[in-house]
Amino acid sequence: MIKPCLTIICFFMSFSVMAETYLVKTPAEYNDAVVQLQPGDTLVLKNGVWNDFEILFTGSGNQQNPITLTAETKGRVILSGESNLRLAGKYLHVSGLVFKNGYTPSSAVIEFRRNKDELAYHSRVSQVVIDNYNNPDKQESDYWVAMYGKHNRFDHNHLVGKRNKGVTVAVRLNSEDSQENYHRIDHNYFGYRPVFGSNGGETLRIGTSHYSLTNSFTRVDHNVFDNTNGEVEIISVKSGKNTLANNLFLEARGTLTLRHGNGNVVENNVFLGNNVDHTGGIRVINKDQVIRNNYLEGLTGYRFGSGFTVMNGVPNSSINRYHQVDNAVIEHNTLVNVHHIQLAAGSDAERSAVPINSIMNNNLIVNDEQQPFTVFDDVSGIRFEGNIANQQVLPELAAGFAPLKSDVARRDNGLLFPVSSTVQAGVSDDLKIVDKSEVGVPWYPKVPAIIAFDSGKQHSVAAEPQALVDAISNAENGDILVLEKGEIVVPRLLNVDKILTIRAREPQATTLSFERTALFEIDNGGSLKLAGLVISGKDSPDAAGNSVVRTRKWGMIENYRFEMTNSVITDLDINHSFDFFVTGKGAFADVIRLADNQFNNITGHILVLDKEIEDLGVYNAEYVILDDNVFSDVAGSVVSLYRGGTDESTFGPHFIAKGNTVKQTGTGKRNKRKAAVYLHGVQVTDITSNTFEYSAPVVVEHTVGEPKTMISHNEFIDTAAPSIEELRVDGPHTATLNGNQFTTAMKE
Ligand code: CA
Repeated sequence: MIKPCLTIICFFMSFSVMAETYLVKTPAEYNDAVVQLQPGDTLVLKNGVWNDFEILFTGSGNQQNPITLTAETKGRVILSGESNLRLAGKYLHVSGLVFKNGYTPSSAVIEFRRNKDELAYHSRVSQVVIDNYNNPDKQESDYWVAMYGKHNRFDHNHLVGKRNKGVTVAVRLNSEDSQENYHRIDHNYFGYRPVFGSNGGETLRIGTSHYSLTNSFTRVDHNVFDNTNGEVEIISVKSGKNTLANNLFLEARGTLTLRHGNGNVVENNVFLGNNVDHTGGIRVINKDQVIRNNYLEGLTGYRFGSGFTVMNGVPNSSINRYHQVDNAVIEHNTLVNVHHIQLAAGSDAERSAVPINSIMNNNLIVNDEQQPFTVFDDVSGIRFEGNIANQQVLPELAAGFAPLKSDVARRDNGLLFPVSSTVQAGVSDDLKIVDKSEVGVPWYPKVPAIIAFDSGKQHSVAAEPQALVDAISNAENGDILVLEKGEIVVPRLLNVDKILTIRAREPQATTLSFERTALFEIDNGGSLKLAGLVISGKDSPDAAGNSVVRTRKWGMIENYRFEMTNSVITDLDINHSFDFFVTGKGAFADVIRLADNQFNNITGHILVLDKEIEDLGVYNAEYVILDDNVFSDVAGSVVSLYRGGTDESTFGPHFIAKGNTVKQTGTGKRNKRKAAVYLHGVQVTDITSNTFEYSAPVVVEHTVGEPKTMISHNEFIDTAAPSIEELRVDGPHTATLNGNQFTTAMKE
């Protein structure tokens, strides 16, 4: 018999236990109440903001009568500042809380333990939100959720915007009490996780290499991974006997990686890449892995980030390298427009143990363009049987593949199936995609990852400094400030902490100059697009080291975007080392794009993106794109982009330059790289159809990760040939150079 609870404390009978509900308004009241909790009791946090509240939730419930901690109204109890939650005991259940506007002072926001010795068992955290709850120092590592103990459940939670270092959800196996744990992680919404820009951006990790031969028995099912782009591993399985089933991976960069541990099952998952860069699928390593009935479509990833990868192992591998693939079962999967399926991947002098005792059967492979397989070593240890492909596969695989003799059509569930029912390959008819509405909580919106430029309102701004300052301060995300014709001398630094476009009403009819050391500073939450402006350095301070745009000088937690189109940048020459754009240390651009601009008479560099000098695999920009710009009389480099270190956990940086003209650039005596374009450790480079004239050379330094470099159809006039060096690998460089022309002009 349960009575409605109307007063602060009420009583009801349930299974003959006297259950109480405590409503608490302060941490002190909480601490008094928590020690009294009996099986079946409920502790309720009053609605409002709880600042710097470190919740320790302990108690012993039982299966019929758990002890509950919840919110007066789900979603209206906000934990902010330096708050966190620890659970220890058994049959505990926490729900309805929101962590935002702060970060954890400890190693996790939610921890299923009090300390090393007191863990949680049979406990559950559900309907909890963690939203951008990030340590302001991006390199300071923490977990959002650390699961210890056994038989715990983490379900129907909403986690979005982890930006600092560290795995979003970690299952820890570091003591016997946390091994063979039978945890369940289900129906969670894993929202946008931006590219982290080095190792340490996984969304889910189960175990670590140290305990990887231990079984975990964790079940991960019906979760949505929506743009979880932190690094190459979305999920890193590092233990045995886990099941990953019925999850949806939506435009997520990276892969589900069976990195360490044996006997895992990956089934009924759906990967939809929508042809977004670096979207991947499943990577298989180790023994006894089962991969069946998964649907993968539109995945562009390559190498270890491919749509499907079976790795080579290291003979007698140490625990943290690569164990040989043995007894893998890969069956009834459907792969549609998966660009790369790589077998015996990573084959080299060290990774020489090819897959053995394995089978790939009844898989359906459909590609609009070309067959997707690459085979890097002997794959006779994989038996191919009953597979069907619409494109002719490689000769060494052909015996295991029959041609697809049916059209494919999209069914109501959104997935492609053969029209003919005689096709026995691919996923089962009843595979369902988990819907976003089934995961997370209904009371917290699942907002898009990124607010686009120009998506807001347009505001006309007079050509006066104060009007511009006011307009920036009043603008909202996505707004467009349209500058009227005239000349604006800006007396102060313009801080940009929102997503903002500033453009001229008439192209190049508004001129900006500035009296501080920089015109714009991009701060946390800021992204800036400039269009149709003229920006001059003529009124800048007569000192070295000015810039037009810079990011915050140190430590930004939020990634930003910078774009400039159809603008003229001139006379950055009042003193030496006057740069156009300078990153701060710790800042990270998702995209920097310059298109159709003219830069002339500049004593510094155009793009300075080389502030991470410790060689820890950290860098300053993911995509740098230059289209159809003219650079002339630039003493420094067009770009200096630096990604040091040996770690291979990132996809970038990427550098793409097409149709630019680079004249008398890079030869200034202070340009210590002696390069018009300097790229170190860049992973993807495409320099096509540009003209370089009387300029310093393009300098490319390859480090790790099989970088892809293409330099083609450029014209080099009185400019030295590109210099490409392998800094970490012996032998000739791996760049592709073709169709480039080298000429000498008639010049004195
Ligand atoms: Ca990693």
